[in-house]
Amino acid sequence: MISSRAGSLPASSTAALDAHVKALLAEGADIVNLTGGELDFPTPEQASEGARRAIAEGRTRYTPVAGVGHLREAVARRLTTRWNSPHEPAQIVTTNGAKQALAQIFTVLCEPGDEVILPAPYWVSFPHMIRLAGAVPVEVDTSATGFRLTPEALREAVTPRTKVLLLNNPSNPTGVVLDRGELAALAHVALEHGLVVVSDEIYGDLVHEGAEFTSFASLGPEIAERTVTVGGFSKTYAMTGWRIGFAAAPPPVAAALSAVQGHTSSAPSSISQYAALAALEGDTDTELDRRAAELNRRRAIMRDGVRGLPPLRLTAPPQGGFFAFVDVRGLCTGPGDDAGTVAGNLLEHAGVAVMPGNDFAAPHHVRLSYAVAAEDIALALDRIGSYLKAVDA
Ligand code: PLP
Repeated sequence: MISSRAGSLPASSTAALDAHVKALLAEGADIVNLTGGELDFPTPEQASEGARRAIAEGRTRYTPVAGVGHLREAVARRLTTRWNSPHEPAQIVTTNGAKQALAQIFTVLCEPGDEVILPAPYWVSFPHMIRLAGAVPVEVDTSATGFRLTPEALREAVTPRTKVLLLNNPSNPTGVVLDRGELAALAHVALEHGLVVVSDEIYGDLVHEGAEFTSFASLGPEIAERTVTVGGFSKTYAMTGWRIGFAAAPPPVAAALSAVQGHTSSAPSSISQYAALAALEGDTDTELDRRAAELNRRRAIMRDGVRGLPPLRLTAPPQGGFFAFVDVRGLCTGPGDDAGTVAGNLLEHAGVAVMPGNDFAAPHHVRLSYAVAAEDIALALDRIGSYLKAVDA
């Protein structure tokens, strides 16, 4: 009854593990949960007030498919001023989270059989989104270069069928932030081969001390004409449940994206759009800076803690987003042991839930979220330390 496209699609393993851990917690289990993909900060009050105002004013009808004009203007302005990436409102399509923008973009860009270059490790949903659109993910392993895609590796992966390079900068799950020079070198290869670059920059506002974020489309007008930037409100503003994201694309791509969306889901919720608009227009920057400083503090606790827990190893220091990606090869001592085994042991014997990297194309890494209270990070590290002593690792 089920099509081969859908039938080959596993349920999201990250969502499944998160649900499992939450169920254990609800039963009263003593677990520190480091699996989540969302900040523990509340939605900024300005955004909530914007939503309440929208309801009070009866802004509860369909909006234009690509979003209300003021929101598209505000997003374009934000990209232009904050990320140095000039955009017009007509280039912005608002979506039900960044996820919908990403899921639709491969249908818009790819013919069946077109190849999408996907640096690995990658966010769990990427290969499935690509396949659902009939395109083919081509993984490029970046583990030998500190999880940083090099122009040489990119060039080697290009074939006559390559259509898209998919970047996620800062990266979930690795925490790597590529610098301007590295991105410019990748842009050079993309232009050489006529690729379109889809740049998922959902973590672009969460970049820590010592790293600097560069939006791919800000590298220059030539590459901007071949770039689709994906962003959203889930991470920057801790608004995961409101489901507002966007794509910023060359005008014909934005129009095609809008057409696909118009025949599938239509615009995202009007109330959420007004909440997002209020977040952008309100004076939220001071609060965002405060949150960024707190996240930076938590990152340091996580990074330094993991460094003090051999045989755990940080392949790359976390620079952006809110994940530390930890090599657990030293704990894979039995035949067939992998990150799933380690995550299972940590859950059962240490009371710490971590995300195994198996479905991120990293079967010997686990992902630890530091989007939780500093005390919980310290407690988790403490428990892992005791576990390591007990198993004499
Ligand atoms: N892209 C990446 C890399 C993510 O990690 C996530 C969420 O976890 C998303 C996109 C989707 O975010 P949204 O909540 O805006 O759909």
